[in-house]
Amino acid sequence: MKERRVLVVEDERTIAESVAARLRAEGFAVEIAADGPSAVEQFRTGRPDLVVLDVMLPGFDGLEVCRRIQAVRPVPVLMLTARDDETDLLVGLAVGADDYLTKPFSMRELAARVHVLLRRVERAATPAPPAIRLGDIEINEAERRVRRAGADVHLTPTEFDLLVHLAGRPRTVLPRERLLADVWGWAEGSGTRTVDSHVKALRRKLGADLIRTVHGVGYALEVPS
Ligand code: CA
Repeated sequence: MKERRVLVVEDERTIAESVAARLRAEGFAVEIAADGPSAVEQFRTGRPDLVVLDVMLPGFDGLEVCRRIQAVRPVPVLMLTARDDETDLLVGLAVGADDYLTKPFSMRELAARVHVLLRRVERAATPAPPAIRLGDIEINEAERRVRRAGADVHLTPTEFDLLVHLAGRPRTVLPRERLLADVWGWAEGSGTRTVDSHVKALRRKLGADLIRTVHGVGYALEVPS
């Protein structure tokens, strides 16, 4: 993985240096900016993956920095605030920061927040899995949509989860107890009639032949030719 860059914007030098040192120890490449205008400038030239941004800054404040950099390119921003009430105010203003940390904070907490924000962004950037096709049925997991012959089919959330579960193991006989555990999260098998009624609904909406009953055992999804 390429080295990730963090821009630390903070005019209090001791805080800036401590934050930078901790993040460098975590493997990040770190730049420091000490006022509003240079923060925006360094954001443009350094192309950081994340910005740690103090609110009170010379030049113009962190809110303005946040607005200007978000207009250039969306990036996760961890804002440093002086007091809890300042954080409340900023949350109310919806300035576009992704998280807030009130001073004084521990470097351990700061590093943890930075990792969480970057993981969230990286997960969001992961391409969605391709749609599953079963004959004329198309299952789009990312959008939680199902189409049959090009027309949207409305499934309840549980019906959708059951269908995706069956479609993930086509032609495999899945016992009702196991479906109950995996889809409904029920450990004991006393609700297997629930599985039956959901299978019935899926057959009604998507075709009677899609799911085969294996008597006394469970169900298997058939792949239409
Ligand atoms: Ca400051």
